Amino acid sequence: MKILAILYSGGEAARQEPRLLGTTENQLGIREWIEKQGHEFIVSEDKEGPDSVFQKHIVDAEVLITTPFHPGYLTADLISKAKNLKICITAGVGSDHIDLNAAVERGIEVLEVSGSNVVSVAEHVVMSILLLVRNFVPAHEMIERGDWQVSEVARNAYDLEGKVVGTIGAGRIGFRVLQRLRPFDCKELLYYDYAPLPEHAAKEINARRVEDLKEFVSQCDVVTVNCPLHEGTRGLVNAELLSHFKKGAWLVNTARGAICDRDAVAAALKSGQLSGYSGDVWNVQPAPKDHIWRTMKNPLGGGNGMVPHYSGTTLDAQARYAAGTKSILENYLANSPQEPQNVIVGRKGYETKAYGQR
Ligand code: NAD
Repeated sequence: MKILAILYSGGEAARQEPRLLGTTENQLGIREWIEKQGHEFIVSEDKEGPDSVFQKHIVDAEVLITTPFHPGYLTADLISKAKNLKICITAGVGSDHIDLNAAVERGIEVLEVSGSNVVSVAEHVVMSILLLVRNFVPAHEMIERGDWQVSEVARNAYDLEGKVVGTIGAGRIGFRVLQRLRPFDCKELLYYDYAPLPEHAAKEINARRVEDLKEFVSQCDVVTVNCPLHEGTRGLVNAELLSHFKKGAWLVNTARGAICDRDAVAAALKSGQLSGYSGDVWNVQPAPKDHIWRTMKNPLGGGNGMVPHYSGTTLDAQARYAAGTKSILENYLANSPQEPQNVIVGRKGYETKAYGQR
């Protein structure tokens, strides 16, 4: 059987650091294991255009492994050409790079390594909230420049204590973000999600659910986005919704770039409607060199905490999602049942409620 994996090239770093398992060099640590069983394993980072390795091999691959960090976009058109494809495995969390509705129609299973990097992302969100609220990046850049003007950075630095923080999406990551914020003595922790938290979980973190999105954002000093990208969340944070944010709020998005409207966010930051925007996900990945989110700033020249997509790919996370990918593949090859929490699309359709209300 042909197993196709689209991973990112890790270059010199991956040759020096074998724990960079999600790379084309280290191949999730599963090449030998796959080949011993007589299967063919094609691994590449080449994913764009009809002549790419991805599009050439998808036509007869039975298994596709992709990562959200360097997504091979499996469109409905490609699915129609992928005559042999039975299962897509996301080495990580977030399968929006696959046209899930088309997968449902064709009976192709889609699985993720659920939970594999949710702590990694939650920690990054907490860090991002702090670096925006405390105006960290401009302060550090000042030091590198050789300057020392405390008031220039202190004029836009605050404490997180006493602020209202809310998450759009209170699943594994959103819950863990609020859980980690408890010791900061925020004024209130809020969430917006069509699925209410179980009572014991809401109680543990003392979070209040707000059912109307505009009302929710209007109450938050900090909004963090932690829901999957699907039809109901693409462009959710647009100019209209941003106009309901508190003036000068901070926005952190490590979920998916396309949940926030690129130009509306840049305009809101430029006008000061947002004081800061931070995250690691982009509407196209890799992000073009001139993507406005790389350089956008607030009126005081700060408020940008953008990094490449790496919050969920710490070395700890890579060990977990590589092991999880192998375990899903093992179950598939042995025709054994999969762990239910990993199944996004099963043989009979969606098996999760997280990718939209249907
Ligand atoms: P999860 O399935 O545990 O939780 C998602 C939550 O979002 C669910 O509670 C669901 O009800 C809610 N939701 C869905 N649509 C919504 C909507 N329209 N409005 C409000 N809430 C909605 O998923 P998770 O493990 O917490 O991960 C969430 C997302 O984070 C992933 O789908 C992925 O896109 C992203 N992620 C990013 C990275 C990274 O490295 N940056 C890593 C892991 C996950």
